[in-house]
Amino acid sequence: MEYQFKAEVKQVLDIVVNSLYTDKEIFVRELVSNASDASEKLRFKKLSDKEEIDESSLKISITVDKDANTFAIEDFGVGMTNSELLENLGTIAHSGSKKFLEALKENKGQLGENLIGQFGVGFYSVFMVADKVDVFTKSEGGDPLHWSCDGSENFTIQPCDKPERGTKIEVSLKPDYKEFSEAPRIREILEKYSAYVDFPIFLNGEALKTRQAIWLKSKSELDDKQYCDFYKFQSHAYSDPIDWLHFKADAPVELNALIYVPAENPERLGFGKTDCGVSLYCKKVLIDASPKDMFPEWMRFARGVIDSSDIPLNISRESMQDSGLTKKLGNVVLKRFVKHLSEIASKNAEKYAKIYGSIGRFIKEGAAMDFDHRNDLAKLLRFDSSLFEDGKSTSLQDYVSRMKPDQKEIYYASGSDRETIENGPYVEAFKARGLEVLYFYDPVDGFVAGSLGEFEGKTFMPADSADVKLPDIPQSAEEGEPISKDDIESLCGWIKSALGAEKISEVLTSGRLVDSPVAALNADSISPQMRAMLRAMNPDSKMPAPIIKFEINPRSPVIKNLCRLRKDDENLAKLVLEQLYDNALLAAGILDNPLSISKRMNEILAHIKA
Ligand code: ADP
Ligand code: MG
Repeated sequence: MEYQFKAEVKQVLDIVVNSLYTDKEIFVRELVSNASDASEKLRFKKLSDKEEIDESSLKISITVDKDANTFAIEDFGVGMTNSELLENLGTIAHSGSKKFLEALKENKGQLGENLIGQFGVGFYSVFMVADKVDVFTKSEGGDPLHWSCDGSENFTIQPCDKPERGTKIEVSLKPDYKEFSEAPRIREILEKYSAYVDFPIFLNGEALKTRQAIWLKSKSELDDKQYCDFYKFQSHAYSDPIDWLHFKADAPVELNALIYVPAENPERLGFGKTDCGVSLYCKKVLIDASPKDMFPEWMRFARGVIDSSDIPLNISRESMQDSGLTKKLGNVVLKRFVKHLSEIASKNAEKYAKIYGSIGRFIKEGAAMDFDHRNDLAKLLRFDSSLFEDGKSTSLQDYVSRMKPDQKEIYYASGSDRETIENGPYVEAFKARGLEVLYFYDPVDGFVAGSLGEFEGKTFMPADSADVKLPDIPQSAEEGEPISKDDIESLCGWIKSALGAEKISEVLTSGRLVDSPVAALNADSISPQMRAMLRAMNPDSKMPAPIIKFEINPRSPVIKNLCRLRKDDENLAKLVLEQLYDNALLAAGILDNPLSISKRMNEILAHIKA
């Protein structure tokens, strides 16, 4: 029987055949992966039908003939019936080619070379190198069939002679592609792409070395290179993983798990949200490459394999999810993984720092959102601290263990880096009292602290909050005398009326400041980080002015001068006060219009007398 390809197949064929795509060799990978899929499907079918399977029959056999300029590949998998042949090789019903076609439509028929490379064009890729393709196939209990096509618009299907179940594909190569009829060249390609195919591969009768299901082997049988190679193969990664966890469990479910941590945050540099890449297997049979609901969201950086013989094979993926077994497996693995991270954190701080550099963001997300594991995840958080030099971070547990006996809160200051935070007015008061402050550089840190609320009974408290109560400390002699009580009182009253109630709710002189003349204490329900986020999301809308308590330092020379200036030149004093106010907002990260500063600064400078 002669058939015509559907229009869309013609389109794909046309592009594949005429493309200047350089990696012609990928057709080998595509055909091997189809042979492997077909064998896996058979294994799955036999297992779910509770039938014995002769594993040794499941092999992939490749034969090349230099003189005839041919390439052939044979498997003993499920094969295809007549309607399957029509459906699978005559339409675009399957994933790889479908995606290719969609991308093609989106790009109005124009596909750059590297774009083509992103898609497995699947079976049709063979037409890059073929003059003619013959497929001989037989499904279990079905009649053997011969599909044939020379890359034109038509293909034929005829009965044929083929006693064994499975599929054999014979490729007559174009004269230009003689290289694919040479065994050494094919061996090289197979090494590159198909080393982990879980079936023995033969090339011209000779067995190729394939590395199999390493997650089922014991740790002692494996070296780092094998672990790294498998990771790169399975998650299409270019660099080695930074860490992995390989273990076996028997209760409450039987499973083998191999979980990898990538060396870099897969969502860095604005790459979109990644999908969890931990595949679910049952006795080496792939059940689901990326099962949903196995892990909580924050684990999406993970790659690897979970293989459990407790998965009933005759159950569909949907009911698999309903049964909650996926989640149960995920839970067992997650618990172990978190424990594993804690062990590294306590035994090898340097390695943990690297891991944290890659997946710290995800751990934070988990600590904030994953209510089942937040206590354990909070212990894995790391922050810089006022106590240590740059580069050394601390855990919350260590912070708490260093807290002063009467200290009830975990103090933190937010800013883009250590320098910014330490140049601001907030940390000095804590330092002067020997209190440790954690430094939050990442905008999500404040959010995580807010969501956790407390750690081991100690509440998180931002250092710029008006709620911070600090004990009085004796002033040192060189700091000089503060201005008199009466002067302070009248200065505070003047500041309040000069700035107005819409800018400040209160003026304080509680002596928290050491070097800085003034500071803005956040009395707003909106945190500075939240403010920055709202501003970034909606740059055009005007935010209400932040409500602050304005703290002044009566020992600061600036305040002493201001006190005097008010009596000599009130207008200039007002300008200086507004400048101090803006400086305080700037240091607090809540100044909405920084331009006002330089304009006013010029006005003030104009008053300098020679
Ligand atoms: P994909 O593998 O992404 O589904 P392909 O273009 O590679 O797409 O293959 C198309 C379909 O043809 C497969 O889904 C499968 O059903 C069928 N097929 C291809 N090769 C074989 C084979 N060796 N044995 C059985 N079926 C096959
Ligand atoms: Mg395929």
